[in-house]
Amino acid sequence: MSHTAGRVSVRVPAKINLQLAVGALGADGFHQIGTVFHALELTDLLTAAPADSLSLSMTGAESAGLPADQGNLAWRAARLLAEHAGIPAHVEFAIDKRIPVAAGLAGGSADAAAALLACDRLWQLRLPAAELTALAAQLGSDVAFALLGGSALGAGRGERLRPIEGGARFSWVLAVAHGGLSTPAVYAELDRQRGPDQARAASDPDAAVAASGVLEAVASGDPELLAGRLANDLQPAAIALAPYLAQTLAAGQDCGALAGIVSGSGPTCAFLARDQAHARTLARALEDTGVCRQALAVTGGDARATVLA
Ligand code: ATP
Repeated sequence: MSHTAGRVSVRVPAKINLQLAVGALGADGFHQIGTVFHALELTDLLTAAPADSLSLSMTGAESAGLPADQGNLAWRAARLLAEHAGIPAHVEFAIDKRIPVAAGLAGGSADAAAALLACDRLWQLRLPAAELTALAAQLGSDVAFALLGGSALGAGRGERLRPIEGGARFSWVLAVAHGGLSTPAVYAELDRQRGPDQARAASDPDAAVAASGVLEAVASGDPELLAGRLANDLQPAAIALAPYLAQTLAAGQDCGALAGIVSGSGPTCAFLARDQAHARTLARALEDTGVCRQALAVTGGDARATVLA
């Protein structure tokens, strides 16, 4: 009897952080964060097919230079799931890569989440969601959110999640930069800026997010209210490493964005628009300024990983 299903495809969303409060550097070398994740209609498509070994190929506008071996998070996800289930990691992955890389949009985490979902189906494991989420957390801080989608409060390293029920949709423009930024380098710069006593770290990042009123703004669906509540502790560090981001943020404001923020560890900037029509106008205006490689109008808030087969 065969224990594998046929080909399985999973479409999986990128994310931005509407709030990112970063606590002090812990003894384990990690920072505790308080964040609000927001999934976007900007997706990668991963297809998993039955095979006698593990292999991976990538196509798509954003696939250049990405590893197609154990350096790829989708590969590591397959290995981890197979080990957990006690079976060989036999799968042929094909990833259509649309999410810009090293951009603060968690594209690698998205592919890892897609790989977990696809292999769970392909190998007919039917693991409970909580078990998949625990494996996701071992792969990276943002992988559990990529499984969940929508909007969610994140704590710990970002893997402890609470969905924001009734979270509304918002319209955004993403200013995609010409280069990328390394997440560890941005955190290291934040620590350097804060200095050894970490005095400017949010002592309780969860409390900082709760006090900011961002959750109410997400639930309200009112972009004018949300505009005043976007915040990212990593933004000054990202700007220090990529000073052109100051121009990108200023250009977004000049073009009429309600607010702009560096997404996660950058260098993508996310600009909030009133509605989709405003986002399209804003994207054209921003692209005309030449401050970014590409300006993408996208909606966020109800995007979710979707199994297509
Ligand atoms: P985050 O916001 O989660 O910190 P990011 O969006 O800044 O992440 P990613 O696009 O996830 O960054 O990529 C970070 C690094 O991970 C890249 O430099 C890349 O080499 C590596 N990587 C491994 N697998 C993938 C993948 N499937 N897609 C993108 N990057 C991957």
